[in-house]
Amino acid sequence: MFDSLSDRLTGALKDLRGKGRLSDADIDRTCREIRLALLEADVSLAVVRSFIARIKERAKGAEVSGALNPAQTVVKIVNEELIGILGGETRRVRFAKNPPTVIMLAGLQGAGKTTLAGKLGNWLKQQGHTPLLVACDLQRPGAVSQLQIVGERAGVPVFAPHPGTSVGGEGALGVTAGDPVSVAQAGVDEARSKHYDVVVIDTAGRLGIDAELMKQASDIRDATSPDEVLFVVDAMIGQDAVTTAEAFADGVGFTGVVLTKLDGDARGGAALSVREVTGQPIMFASSGEKLEDFDVFHPDRMASRILG
Ligand code: GDP
Repeated sequence: MFDSLSDRLTGALKDLRGKGRLSDADIDRTCREIRLALLEADVSLAVVRSFIARIKERAKGAEVSGALNPAQTVVKIVNEELIGILGGETRRVRFAKNPPTVIMLAGLQGAGKTTLAGKLGNWLKQQGHTPLLVACDLQRPGAVSQLQIVGERAGVPVFAPHPGTSVGGEGALGVTAGDPVSVAQAGVDEARSKHYDVVVIDTAGRLGIDAELMKQASDIRDATSPDEVLFVVDAMIGQDAVTTAEAFADGVGFTGVVLTKLDGDARGGAALSVREVTGQPIMFASSGEKLEDFDVFHPDRMASRILG
């Protein structure tokens, strides 16, 4: 996804090689090229501005240490600042002291939530947890059975209402299958009584942001008090990634971001702006349709990948 950004950035930095000393003009020219590369990759303007300002300031004031030549010093600064906009440290899941840990997924329809639920379930299992997936996307036809399929593939149980019955078995809770908030609550209760230690709640998305979607997501959040609310965003949607992130930050609130479809060939820079714009860390990255195409997000590794 970041091939062209990576080519442009390495190109801009390559021009500095071999220079014994960097003038302010050299730094200005390099910063201009970096700025263009980032804008072309769809990184949001505000993020680009502050990023470039920091690089310029640090590069101009940099003491060139004995071990690094001037060009390497600038590369090091760009690398550190890139790690910074990607969040700095790797942010791990905060597991509840008293299980079950509740992880709620939120995002637009098609962002990759249901696919992610399976991947997350698989990953949690590999980490020694006993996850339960809860099907609360009752809007999109087929979402429940899709979750059941990914759950089966991952070997992770799925809690879902049977159409036309009450949640939790025959009349057990007296709620109907059409109510995602009750399904979420019943899923958490199920996990507690059957000793699953992590609950992953898949929620409904819409094609665009709307008040009803936000309300439903906040109702599920209020009913289940999640330890983590993960905002799932398709890295292919360009600048909309930033506007959607802002809308979910206001409407629902989230504690972490999952970037999906990083295997796509779109420019992807907008997704890289989400951390800086919302202040919440990118926690996971998904890069394909298979269960294994998924990993914890490491800002330093991503920065190295981008800088080639
Ligand atoms: P939801 O509406 O948010 O639950 O989204 P889905 O999980 O149904 O995903 C929407 C589509 O994107 C499906 O066709 C998935 O197979 C696909 N998808 C999900 N994650 C990825 C990914 O990381 N890479 C690619 N290429 N496709 C993905």
